Amino acid sequence: MSDCIFCKIVSGDIPSACLLKDDDAFAFLDIGPLAEGHALLIPTRHYETLDQMPASEAAGLLRHLPALVRAVQAVTGCTGVNVLQNNGRVAHQVVPHVHFHIIPRTADDAWHFNWPVGDYPDGRMAELATAIVAELEK
Ligand code: AMP
Ligand code: ZN
Repeated sequence: MSDCIFCKIVSGDIPSACLLKDDDAFAFLDIGPLAEGHALLIPTRHYETLDQMPASEAAGLLRHLPALVRAVQAVTGCTGVNVLQNNGRVAHQVVPHVHFHIIPRTADDAWHFNWPVGDYPDGRMAELATAIVAELEK
């Protein structure tokens, strides 16, 4: 996609600190890191959100995730990693090309989740599970 910043990174029109590249996947360091070593793993072809990706291309992309996490952990010495993938503006997606953030974490870092845990009224959890299973089977 001609006006996509991440497509331009894949094509080399915009420089990046490249970590890996093959037919399905490209990884590079995030230019605005939440921590040193913050990396992005993206598909080489343009998809705006994860739900648009064919399973085969998602598999080709995500097969790199464990090794990339291991490499970032080894080099940064972080004690944990968040893998984060935002879809849509409401979910904080700024760049409309699928990307997985690999974010090194340490005990004393300044990044905190707002994780407002809820609960379900009686029967709602089973109802939702049934609806999602039916959707998956379509
Ligand atoms: P998101 O909010 O999930 O869409 O994240 C987009 C990420 O892309 C941000 O963390 C940005 O810092 C990163 N980013 C934007 N432009 C570049 C670039 N040219 N090189 C590397 N990372 C970038
Ligand atoms: Zn793109």
